[in-house]
This record gives sequence, structure tokens and C-alpha cells, in this order.
Amino acid sequence: MDFDRLRYFKQYLNTINGVLEGYFEEQKEYVCCKKGCAHCCERGQYPFSEVEFDYIMLGFFKLPKEEQLKVLERVKSIKEEREKADDKKGFMYRCPFLNENKECSIYDFRGIICRTFGLLTVGTDEKLKVPFCQSLGLNFSKVIDREHKKIDEDLVKKYNYKVQPKAYCIDLKMMTNPEIFADKSFEFGVIKQLIDWF
Ligand code: SF4
Ligand code: SF4
Repeated sequence: MDFDRLRYFKQYLNTINGVLEGYFEEQKEYVCCKKGCAHCCERGQYPFSEVEFDYIMLGFFKLPKEEQLKVLERVKSIKEEREKADDKKGFMYRCPFLNENKECSIYDFRGIICRTFGLLTVGTDEKLKVPFCQSLGLNFSKVIDREHKKIDEDLVKKYNYKVQPKAYCIDLKMMTNPEIFADKSFEFGVIKQLIDWF
């Protein structure tokens, strides 16, 4: 493990945490995230860069031994399930770090996408990406035009929201771009989905 790189990464996390807190605060009228809500950790692929995964593993090694074993067992069974699946590439799974109480067992060490979940985002393709939980009646659900996958301005007015819903450039590509949030002191390394790091 490259501890110098992890030190720079931690500084980067401090910066983005402050930025993301500001974004969540700005959009709080539309956001329902709260402790115990973990739909976003129950079905996904969780892409993490090499440095993120190293940082996650720092959290993993702090867990009690029995909790570590549970995580490894979950990883093993996810891999077995994926082997049996017809669509291996698109295979979705519950994050192995989500514990029985629906809490992230390595919360302080979680990855970048875990920190941006819940906001509206826009990527380099300029397409709006909506948190999937809007379809469960959660974040931004009152103002999304589902058919056209866009914000419905009439609904924003109808429900008297004080601020406009806003999409931020915070997809993983942007967040790991050294010209934007990161500096050039470290490299993120390759990006893989979570279970492929094990
Ligand atoms: S992003 Fe959605 S599913 Fe995840 S914690 Fe927030 S409200 Fe819940
Ligand atoms: S690492 Fe934690 S926050 Fe991220 S998907 Fe897994 S359980 Fe959720």
C-alpha cells in the first residue's frame, strides 16, 4: 500500500467533503437521505479507483475480525452469484460493506461515488443523471419528469420549492480529474467495480 498516496488522497477527501456538504445543503429541499436509508447500497456495481480501494481497505482492517470475515463471505457469494448470472457484465449486487443494520461498515472510508449518491449529476456527455431512488419516491421524486428524464419546472413551481434543482459535475470522471477537484500530487489508478478489487 502506498501510504504517501493515501495521505494526499485524504487531503483530497477533506476538500471534496466540504464541497459536497455545500451541495447537499443547497439541495436539501429535494434530498431525503438519512441514516438507515440504504437503497443506494443495495443494488449496484460500485466503481472505485485503486487509491479509493486502498483507503476502503484501511477501514476494513479496522473492523472487528468477525465483521471482516462477514464482508469476505459476502464477496465470495456475490462472485459465485455473478458466475451463475446470464449477464455477468451488468450483474448488480448489494455492497458487501453494508451490514445487517443497513449501515455502511466502513463509512468514513467509503468511496467517492458513495459520497455523491443522492444528488443530480451531469457528466461530460451533458446528460442529466437522476438518483435512482427518485423512482422510490425519494430524492427529487416530486420534480422529475420520468418520461423525458428531465426536471419539470412546473412541478418546481407547483410545490413552491425555494431553490432550483441543480445538477453538479460530480461524476467519477470529473471527481478524479486532476484539473478539477484533485491535484497532481497523486494518481487515482485504474477504476474497477468493487468485487473485482478482491
Ligand atoms: S441517495 Fe436515496 S437511497 Fe441513498 S440514502 Fe439518499 S435517499 Fe436513501
Ligand atoms: S461502501 Fe458503504 S456507502 Fe459505499 S456502497 Fe458500500 S455500503 Fe454503501
